[in-house]
Amino acid sequence: MKRIVIKVGSNVLTRENGTLDITRVSSLADQIQALRQNGIEVILVTSGAVACGRSLTKAAPALDEVQQRQLYAAVGQVRLMDQYYRLFADYGIAVGQILTMKKNFEGGEEYDNQRGCMEGMLESGVLPIVNENDAVSITELMFTDNDELSGLVATMMGADTLVILSNIDGLYDGDPADPESRVVARIEPEDDLSSCIGAKRSSAGRGGMQTKYKVAKQLAGSGVRVILANGRRDGILVSLATNPQEAVHTEFIPTKK
Ligand code: GLU
Repeated sequence: MKRIVIKVGSNVLTRENGTLDITRVSSLADQIQALRQNGIEVILVTSGAVACGRSLTKAAPALDEVQQRQLYAAVGQVRLMDQYYRLFADYGIAVGQILTMKKNFEGGEEYDNQRGCMEGMLESGVLPIVNENDAVSITELMFTDNDELSGLVATMMGADTLVILSNIDGLYDGDPADPESRVVARIEPEDDLSSCIGAKRSSAGRGGMQTKYKVAKQLAGSGVRVILANGRRDGILVSLATNPQEAVHTEFIPTKK
């Protein structure tokens, strides 16, 4: 691993009541610092703004659903970045925020600008933290979810690995609720597991296994390794980097570039 994108889902970062799970965020920050110490360049794609904002403020009754979401995103994003800022500051690591939108990935100047900005951050030792600009991008302008966004960021930044952390251990060969189901450890480029995937969506965010699988397949097909793992497991990022056989996860093996 040289350059990785780590995407963390809302269900990892927030507790059931939507408040930020500071213990979890703190542990992720420790692990990201450890990866950086080992010479790995990290770009963090974070969800959790909407879930977090919802727990912090109550929308005025006049606001429709879209306005409520915008409000929660605007409020929650500040809370989220505040937490990252503090935790990484303890390690002397500066963080930089990139809020982006789907149309910025359609090529052109914005695409080059955001890539240039993130390259500049990495070169300067700053940790780029990316989220969708949920206050501005609404309905049909949105990414499917942050899994899609993280795939686009990984491609844009030439990352060799994308790690998607959610609250499940990986891709199961059946219904995850069925005790007989097992996490599939390796998915080769020629494997098709689409029939194993249910339509269940995240309770706190917009994601689900369907987009994770689609993004992972696409990326692996273009030479990027993708790992799905459980961000609630202690030390998961460090285990994946140093002792992957000990950490339950699904790895999408990339086609050779
Ligand atoms: N960007 C959204 C947030 O920060 C999350 C979208 C998703 O769930 O993938 O709340």
